Amino acid sequence: MSNMPQPHVLIVEDEIAQREVLGYNLEAEGFRTTKAEDGEQALMLIAEEAPDVIVLDWMLPNVSGIEVCRQLKTRPETRDVPIIMLSARSEEVDKVRGLETGADDYVVKPYSVSELMARVRTQLRRARPSTVGQMLVFEDIVLDSETHRVKRGEDALKLGPTEFRLLSTFMEKPGRVWSREQLLDRVWGRDIYVDTRTVDVHIGRLRKVLTQHGGSDPLRTVRGAGYALG
Ligand code: CA
Repeated sequence: MSNMPQPHVLIVEDEIAQREVLGYNLEAEGFRTTKAEDGEQALMLIAEEAPDVIVLDWMLPNVSGIEVCRQLKTRPETRDVPIIMLSARSEEVDKVRGLETGADDYVVKPYSVSELMARVRTQLRRARPSTVGQMLVFEDIVLDSETHRVKRGEDALKLGPTEFRLLSTFMEKPGRVWSREQLLDRVWGRDIYVDTRTVDVHIGRLRKVLTQHGGSDPLRTVRGAGYALG
């Protein structure tokens, strides 16, 4: 990233050791960081300068992470800033997800720092989507929304209409975690009654096609939350 401005990551975490470790690792990877120890301070810093990505702990003194997330996602000027929510247990992810805070990704503590770095990079890629005309690009996958053709590397992939809509939804926002309900709304439409297990079936089919020529599985199952690309 030598010619690019340093991406700015805001770390909101009340536990000082975790805040420092994250800051150290992000800076070692070339990111610029600012740090807040509670929700109130985070909102103040964001009002001064919107970061490129926010790593936000769920349990915070004063204003909770959920409330920070909710506020940022309702304001037009901060709505598009990706938020990675940290939570202590996967049951908390369920709860956070259930509250529909609009967080873009969820990472369960204890997390590996390298895993979190990867999530930050994915959100940054998403913030600068690689779109060329009608083409959506994610790593070696290219989707042409006009001709409905999908290629992975040199291989043309044959997708059913539902799998195609699923993949375009994922490719529009790589790294974003979609709940099954959200995917049902986007892909099947709100008015049709479809069981959420149907989503799992079609995700399975999509995975099979995406990996049929030996490529790795680009879809991620997020326990208690849903699915994400990358
Ligand atoms: Ca905390």
